[in-house]
Amino acid sequence: MRLNQCIFPQPLKQSFRAVLESILQEDTPMPIDPVCKMEVSIADAAASHDYHSETLYFCSLDCLRKFESDPAEYMDNMSDEERIA
Ligand SMILES: [Zn+2]
Repeated sequence: MRLNQCIFPQPLKQSFRAVLESILQEDTPMPIDPVCKMEVSIADAAASHDYHSETLYFCSLDCLRKFESDPAEYMDNMSDEERIA
């Protein structure tokens, strides 16, 4: 933390917003593209795919095609933490 953040209190509204955003981020983790492992926001996902009742999101159609060619390989490589519950 930088010193000037301690000296000058933030406006209450801004602090509340920061807290709210941190809560929202915890409740809705970013989906992870199972092919390239990057975080993909649902709004920005190029493609989605239903796999065993999970909805997976992909950064690009290339990743979707790779996944569809061998879904088991990519799902096996994901830890439980990376899966979207
Ligand atoms: Zn990708």
